[in-house]
Amino acid sequence: MPVKIQCGCGQRYAFDIEPVCGRMPGRIACPICGMDGTRVANEIIAFNLAAEMSRNDDGKQVVMTCAVIGCMIAGLAGIIKAVNMAGGFDVLLCLLGATAAFGMALCVYFWKR
Ligand SMILES: [Zn+2]
Repeated sequence: MPVKIQCGCGQRYAFDIEPVCGRMPGRIACPICGMDGTRVANEIIAFNLAAEMSRNDDGKQVVMTCAVIGCMIAGLAGIIKAVNMAGGFDVLLCLLGATAAFGMALCVYFWKR
C-alpha cells in the first residue's frame, strides 16, 4: 500500500508498506528533519483500508469473497504476529485486531447470503 506523508517541515515523502494489524509494521521518520511520521502513517493506512472496504460494498460476489478471505488472512496474520510477540500491550492490541478481522469476515460472509 503506497503511503504519502507531508511532514511538518514541508518535506513530502512516500513509501510502500504492508500494514500489520492495519498499522505500520515499523517506525517511519522524515528523511529531512527526522520527525516521527508513524502516527500520521497509521492514520493514512486506516483511511486507505476504510476506503478499500467501502469500495468493496459494490455487492459483487467475487469482491465480497475476496474481502472475506482478506479479513481471514488479516485475522490469522494478527494471531501469528501476537503469538510471536514478546508480550504485553502489543499482543493485546494485535489479538483485538485479529478478533475484529475475524468478526468482520463472518459479518461479510453472512450478510452476503
Ligand atoms: Zn520533516
